[in-house]
Amino acid sequence: MIEKKIKQIVRDVNDFPKAGIVFKDITPILKDAVLCGEITTALAMQLSAVKIDVVAGIESRGFLFGMALANLLNVPFVPIRKAGKLPYKTIQQSYDLEYGSATLEMHEDAILPGQHVLIHDDLLATGGTVVAASKLIEKLDAVVAGYSFIIALDFLNGKDRLKPFSANNFALAS
Ligand code: 5GP
Repeated sequence: MIEKKIKQIVRDVNDFPKAGIVFKDITPILKDAVLCGEITTALAMQLSAVKIDVVAGIESRGFLFGMALANLLNVPFVPIRKAGKLPYKTIQQSYDLEYGSATLEMHEDAILPGQHVLIHDDLLATGGTVVAASKLIEKLDAVVAGYSFIIALDFLNGKDRLKPFSANNFALAS
């Protein structure tokens, strides 16, 4: 089962990026080419009933499977990046992280009004990051089609913060 494989391979790193945080390190997944394929397929299967025109992935770990997922779904991929990284005209949204705060940006022409945008990230913690991404998408008059994560940390109740944007919220492991 995919959840069991993910839980076995993801590494808990204590005190990263600061004391008291137990960071879920997904990089061991990337060394297993077969599992990477299985994860991409499983993400797509969870979304089979969701209308998706675009996949938006969040810097930086959301790019890894976000692009693969978009490719499998045969839809465009849009990068949502930290401030100052995108070269063209951008729109911005600030947000609070589990640790610190930051600003997300997206190219102003990345998504068309009315498009259904699936937001992908590696991990859902408090939900602050994907709430900011959702606001960016709505600023462009597009629709948040749903959320897709490899891991959702249920104890932080991030899912509750996403409900106002979309009821479609999927994760492969908790
Ligand atoms: P949130 O905004 O939901 O509190 O935090 C989620 C964001 O922070 C995601 O972009 C995710 O990549 C990153 N993040 C927070 N904690 C972890 C963690 O333990 N492991 C990984 N891989 N990413 C994390």
